Amino acid sequence: MAYEVPDLPYDYAALEPHIDEATMRLHHDKHHQAYVDKANAALKGTEWEGQDIEAVLRSLDRLPDDIRTAVRNNGGGHANHTFFWQIMSPDGGGEPGGDLAEAISDAFGSFNAFKDKLTAAGVGQFGSGWAWLVHDGSGLVVTSTANQDTPISAGQTPLLGVDVWEHAYYLKYQNRRPDYLDAWWNVVNWDEVESRFRAANG
Ligand code: MN
Repeated sequence: MAYEVPDLPYDYAALEPHIDEATMRLHHDKHHQAYVDKANAALKGTEWEGQDIEAVLRSLDRLPDDIRTAVRNNGGGHANHTFFWQIMSPDGGGEPGGDLAEAISDAFGSFNAFKDKLTAAGVGQFGSGWAWLVHDGSGLVVTSTANQDTPISAGQTPLLGVDVWEHAYYLKYQNRRPDYLDAWWNVVNWDEVESRFRAANG
């Protein structure tokens, strides 16, 4: 079955005032839809059509040469945005608990040190891309990717990620990416991140 844009798990305006409704409508209905349409077009008629998108993105080097870049960009866009909607919530913000809180302290020294590191990765990503907290198989790492590249293709498991493409913030924050990132922390769905951490940590 062809890929589809999943419904948001909350209303378009639910992340106000941190992420505005107009941005969410454009981002979800237009940008994510375009990635889905182009990923479907690239994979149509190949043995990869309709395969689990994460499995496809783990196997980019096995794709036919003539569709690899289109799948990397648009399949990546589909996976990244599907993930992004889930790790935000109107009931988000604050700090994680449990084993994840402990793992973050162990890896980065403190929650605030982790927060500063991820924010710096987002601010410092030149041009379009994403900043991530990933599980790399042995522990927690902060990383960033360009364009729609996903840590999945590098064998890592994304736990938390923030879209720093201008389309994610320009309507409300214009060129102030640091202000967008400061606001975004208020909508992080730690329950979802903790659940992904438990699965990745075995
Ligand atoms: Mn985006």
